[in-house]
Amino acid sequence: MVNVIRRIIARILTSFGVTADQLWSLLSPIGHSSHIRRHAAAVTLSRVRFVSALFAVLVPAWSVVDLLVFEMVQAVPLIALRFASAAVFVFLAWPRELSTTRPSLQAGLMLLIMLLVPPVFYLLSLQVVDPAELSGTQALVAGLYALMPTIVLGGLAVFPLTALEVVAFSIPAVTIALGSIIADHGMDLQADGAALWFMAMMMGLAMFSGMSQLHYMATLVNKAMTDALTGAYTRRSGTEALDLMFRLATLSGKPLSVAFFDLDHFKSINDSYGHEAGDKALQTLVESLRTTLRRGDILVRWGGEEFVAVLPDMPADAVPGLLSRLRAGNGLGLRPDGTALTASIGVAETLRDDVLDWPALVELADSRMYEAKRGGRDRAVLPGEEVIVLGESPDGVQDGGPNVGQVAEATATPA
Ligand code: GH3
Ligand code: MG
Ligand code: MG
Repeated sequence: MVNVIRRIIARILTSFGVTADQLWSLLSPIGHSSHIRRHAAAVTLSRVRFVSALFAVLVPAWSVVDLLVFEMVQAVPLIALRFASAAVFVFLAWPRELSTTRPSLQAGLMLLIMLLVPPVFYLLSLQVVDPAELSGTQALVAGLYALMPTIVLGGLAVFPLTALEVVAFSIPAVTIALGSIIADHGMDLQADGAALWFMAMMMGLAMFSGMSQLHYMATLVNKAMTDALTGAYTRRSGTEALDLMFRLATLSGKPLSVAFFDLDHFKSINDSYGHEAGDKALQTLVESLRTTLRRGDILVRWGGEEFVAVLPDMPADAVPGLLSRLRAGNGLGLRPDGTALTASIGVAETLRDDVLDWPALVELADSRMYEAKRGGRDRAVLPGEEVIVLGESPDGVQDGGPNVGQVAEATATPA
């Protein structure tokens, strides 16, 4: 029964172009990849700035209405409130860079501040004007203020957010709206039912719109960032991510390793079995590398049959462990003749190798990859000229001989 329901749900989702995993990622931000998080944060930040700039002008402009409609004693504090709100909007609209380390937190905080302004304005306006004592145009304008928390909920529709985030960001506005109703006359479903229903509809709308924006954005971003044949990062998006990871590693003082893979005698696969067999081998290679790499690692197709694995928070000392896990799994896959596909691998690490930027790090890994080729292929060359022959010794570590230098003196990774 459960299986049938699951299958029906999967069928419905497929017809909308969404898989079950994708649906989960639209419901909750937990587990989003860092590039999706960054893109969503960048979009949120720029929209917060845009909307705030708009409100920084519109909110004080509405002072004219306050002056025309209310008594001076009410209009003056309302206008003061308007200018205070406009100051917050100016602060939010001010040009700023997306945070390198905490983009989601930064965008979330900015959004939260923006969302708090209208309900807080409404709450404070109640101290100045009492809607129960008003009539005519005054009651109409005060009624518009009472809608502010609900408008905030509708406004959430502008942002690429998951359902959970929409709920979280709605909490302040909903609390203020419900709180003021209860403080005023208690909960009266007959009198307030329509307003509550309207609020729920706005939240639903914001959820639907936020999730579809996020889905659309994630699909485009993933398509633009990954290579069509293998699904690995393209060189362009990979270097962007690498640049960011390098800066983060420098800031945190944690090691960042890169492993440069060049497949051995790959051309002969194409020559003997055709280009398609070569393509297939590249796909299997990426699949096996993916299952071995950790969640935060990225795999970049650097060119043809050259791949760079970017390993944040991993010292070069830990790379042999990664390689033996790879070997314990599917290795790098098989050649069409059934023999193992092998690669020559060069590894470089930010703390062990004194490099100033990521291009220098990759260049070093690339030159070690060539050393591995010269040493006889199917091996990795690590910092300190440590050589790991992959296909031979069980623990992998051996003296690489005159071509590839000595086994490393066991250098501890600096903390
Ligand atoms: P070596 O061990 O020295 O690296 O030998 P190799 O044959 O791998 O030499 P090299 O790295 O120079 O060869 C790269 C080959 O990879 C040449 C090209 O035909 C092939 N190649 C590059 N991109 C693709 C691709 O997308 N699909 C296929 N099927 N082959 C590709
Ligand atoms: Mg090559
Ligand atoms: Mg090659």
